[in-house]
Amino acid sequence: MKLIWDGSLIIENKNRRISIDPQSRCNRSDLTLISHAHIDHIQGLNCESCVLSSRETHEILKTRTRPPVNYTQLSLRQLYEDESFKITPYNSGHVLGSFQFFIESKTESILYSSDINCVKSLTTTPAESLEADTLILESTYGRPEFSLPPREEVYTDIIEWCVKTISEGKIPVFKAYSLGKSQELIKLMNNYLQIPVIVDSNIALISEVYNKSGVKLNFINQHQEEAQRLLKEKACVLITSSFKNNRLLFEKKHFALAFASGWALKFKPKNFSTAFPLSSHADYYQLLNFVEACAPKKVYTCHGFAEDLAKAIELKLNVKAQPISEITQKTLLDF
Ligand SMILES: [Zn+2]
Ligand SMILES: [Zn+2]
Repeated sequence: MKLIWDGSLIIENKNRRISIDPQSRCNRSDLTLISHAHIDHIQGLNCESCVLSSRETHEILKTRTRPPVNYTQLSLRQLYEDESFKITPYNSGHVLGSFQFFIESKTESILYSSDINCVKSLTTTPAESLEADTLILESTYGRPEFSLPPREEVYTDIIEWCVKTISEGKIPVFKAYSLGKSQELIKLMNNYLQIPVIVDSNIALISEVYNKSGVKLNFINQHQEEAQRLLKEKACVLITSSFKNNRLLFEKKHFALAFASGWALKFKPKNFSTAFPLSSHADYYQLLNFVEACAPKKVYTCHGFAEDLAKAIELKLNVKAQPISEITQKTLLDF
């Protein structure tokens, strides 16, 4: 198999090309694999390409972009096979329906991790690890300062902050990604706070897909009348992916604003009351453990701190590693 990076990841075998999570539209490929529907993984998606993804990813795609017409749905561990490749999706633990892809030719195997979360959350189960010759690994939090606390601790801190904020007569407001983090926060509120959860329309659309897929979430779209009443009465939690339409709300005396992301380990953005290190990505130590479990001969890192993580993998685990952006074209058998 040939691994090619030209702004997007391409794998070639016997004149057949697959692109994975395309980031630019110029890549010619026979098949496109989509691991999940976060924008940075679908921005080069061409509606005419033949696409493989989970049903959930396809449903979420429909809420954000023109979905591919030529689409094949795969379930976890369901084998897809053609004359050049065998492709099997595994759980990546990141968001609803998110996949890693295990890609095999007759002689070698590649695991493309995509974005992984290695711990259980209220809405996802941990990423699976499996042995592969080559591992293509995300490196969002690929530095040792990114060491996440236990998730239960973060959940407790969030709930305690909500209770305190409400007791001060304010609305707890979370700014969160519309896919993944928002649904985890809704579930957290549903399970531990008896209070309505208001969300913006983007979050509502995606949360409906979660509901239809068996992850039950109770929420109210902020455009419903009931939501407006609850916001006036300050009897709710608000989760929003954007501040654009919420200006009226944001007089400081009415709300307290929280940020929930792994980046909270490093900084609290201006104008936020607090920040919680709630992440849908593996931290540095979990990434290293993941590499060990996959026992690859070679690792390519991508996204975030790709260089730092590649160095750490070589140094600590004695496995060849480099950022994927450094290659233009390689035959994996070279390694
Ligand atoms: Zn993602
Ligand atoms: Zn990503």
